[in-house]
Amino acid sequence: MTTVALRDVTKIFSDGTVAVDALSLDVADGEFMVLLGPSGCGKSTVLRIVAGLEDPSVGAVLLDGELANDMPPRDRGIAMVFQDFALYPHMTVGDNIAFPLRLAGVEQDRRGERVSDVAGALGIGEVLARRPGQLSGGQRQRVAMGRAIVRRPGLFLMDEPLSNLDSGLRAELRAEISGLVRELGVSTIYVTHDQAEALTMADRVAIMRKGVLQDVGTPTQVYGRP
Ligand code: ADP
Ligand code: ADP
Repeated sequence: MTTVALRDVTKIFSDGTVAVDALSLDVADGEFMVLLGPSGCGKSTVLRIVAGLEDPSVGAVLLDGELANDMPPRDRGIAMVFQDFALYPHMTVGDNIAFPLRLAGVEQDRRGERVSDVAGALGIGEVLARRPGQLSGGQRQRVAMGRAIVRRPGLFLMDEPLSNLDSGLRAELRAEISGLVRELGVSTIYVTHDQAEALTMADRVAIMRKGVLQDVGTPTQVYGRP
């Protein structure tokens, strides 16, 4: 299980840019939180601060109630997915998904089981022997998700994972991602500038503008409709 609490988090970059301004936000265990706002409003910076890839200038990050500001990224139990997939092109799909397990020293039989389970759940069980270059965009994003969840993270961070896909595929994967995440029961922060994505996927939406959190609530609370 993982809960996230950000307390008065501010990020000022060395050039003086205030990317995040006194932001406080709670993500409950198993909650699907969508961080919504226009490009440049600070969404990715928030995600990178939660992941430990960026230090807050001011404020606290708590994971499961514990102060995590000084916790290394690898100890945070977090998996991340980005829009550019970042798959290893020379490895097969199976080896891509298994890679985090290999790093963690999981033995080969167990790796095979986990990869089959995850690939089956994502509908890519038939393409495990292919390389990323032989896949469609949707399949590549499924592989990236498989690699992210294979170690059963407590927290799943996604940064515009669908923005490089065409609109039909986006709609399909929206449903698939929210279904998968709910099945896993993993707490999720999902960054997007797409309001339709936020409305269809979120348990709660956090709306950001110019580094400031403007509103947070269920889609109905925030937009007056589900
Ligand atoms: P810090 O303030 O954390 O030291 P830097 O200003 O040194 O950050 O930049 C860190 C990285 O972010 C560099 O790779 C840089 O190219 C990139 N970067 C700098 N300015 C911006 C910007 N306005 N938007 C996005 N990335 C930037
Ligand atoms: P979003 O994810 O909403 O597009 P970002 O978090 O990437 O926004 O960026 C928020 C603001 O911080 C932007 O003005 C961006 O240019 C700036 N920024 C991001 N990274 C850096 C950096 N390393 N150095 C300086 N400015 C940055």
